[in-house]
Amino acid sequence: MNDVIYLDNNATSRVAPEVLEAMQPFFTDLYGNASSMYTFGGKVEKYIQEARAKAAALLGAQPEEIIFTSCGSESDATTILSALQTQPGKRHLITTRVEHAAILSLCQHLEAEGYDVTYLDVDEKGRLDLNQLESSMRDDTALVSVMFANNETGTIFPIERIADMVKSRGILFHTDAVQATGKLPINLSTLPADFLSVSGHKLHSPKGIGMLYVRRGTPFAPFLRGGHQERGRRAGTENAPYIVGLGKACELAMNNMQYERTEVARLRDRLQQGLLEKIPDAIINGDQEHRLPNTLNIAFKAVEGEAILLMLDRYGICASSGSACTSGSLESSHVLRAMKVPFTYAHGSVRFSLSRYNTEEEIDYVVKVMPGIIAELRAISPFA
Ligand code: PLP
Repeated sequence: MNDVIYLDNNATSRVAPEVLEAMQPFFTDLYGNASSMYTFGGKVEKYIQEARAKAAALLGAQPEEIIFTSCGSESDATTILSALQTQPGKRHLITTRVEHAAILSLCQHLEAEGYDVTYLDVDEKGRLDLNQLESSMRDDTALVSVMFANNETGTIFPIERIADMVKSRGILFHTDAVQATGKLPINLSTLPADFLSVSGHKLHSPKGIGMLYVRRGTPFAPFLRGGHQERGRRAGTENAPYIVGLGKACELAMNNMQYERTEVARLRDRLQQGLLEKIPDAIINGDQEHRLPNTLNIAFKAVEGEAILLMLDRYGICASSGSACTSGSLESSHVLRAMKVPFTYAHGSVRFSLSRYNTEEEIDYVVKVMPGIIAELRAISPFA
């Protein structure tokens, strides 16, 4: 067994060895600028186009609809700012209460600048009310942005239906697919989204690379202006090693998708079942029927999530909690608050997110140590 049992893949993931291998020549031999006139640069450009084709294939898109960016946050921000800039008369945005900060904090900033934002509610399982979406769309709505799947609970939204509803009103639609890409099939030849965001480091390529899908013909304003890279849609010398790495990661994701959806899900279910069987007063956060195959968000009554993480750390187990220590007091995450998870459970929430690199032995080890951790913490808990 590894020294570290890494169960925090929704935070970031290890770089696949095949990805690292594909990237290496671009630091040593193939260091030319892809935009240069000479053959040495042109060779790099050829590999970038190959990576673009692999990325497009994973999403059911055309290669020219893919823009390489630096991360998921850049892809999200580019979309929102582009939608507002290309439609100056429209000053209303619709998103959800459970988006990642990459969306929410920009929306809050835009509200302070005078834009109007509607945040859609979720129910106790984290599901959206589509009637609320229908009644929130207005003539001045510039963009609807709804994540494909939630990073904390793994809840998957009915993106096809949402996209159809939004497009039937003639409004631009964006989905943050940072957590879904590589874990779920995405087919933009049938999904009518205008924009879709991806982050490389959630799919076994390095941090510092992402991509944005922009449907052909969609009005677009670049976030970074400068050189003519990415067909004038994102300036900055192409990050060839990382682009090639992301292309390789997309190819691997396509090949491993079935494994992810069956074997990784099996390990996740084994973890869930083992914990629920051995630990009383535990509940699952999120929609178990529509959930990412790798994600388990489990809440233990009357314990603090951060204390659980510290104890897990002693055993070399990495996970995330559903609460964050802000100004000395523990506040549960905005996602769990939006779901109205009861206080005594929300604070004891832990997210385990698996990858194809996890083993059954690792899962069984977590199931073995966890009951003792919870019992020890409950023994000293003021809430127990
Ligand atoms: N969107 C979602 C749903 C995420 O989970 C994350 C990262 O956790 C991001 C966006 C931001 O991605 P990046 O870290 O590549 O900026």
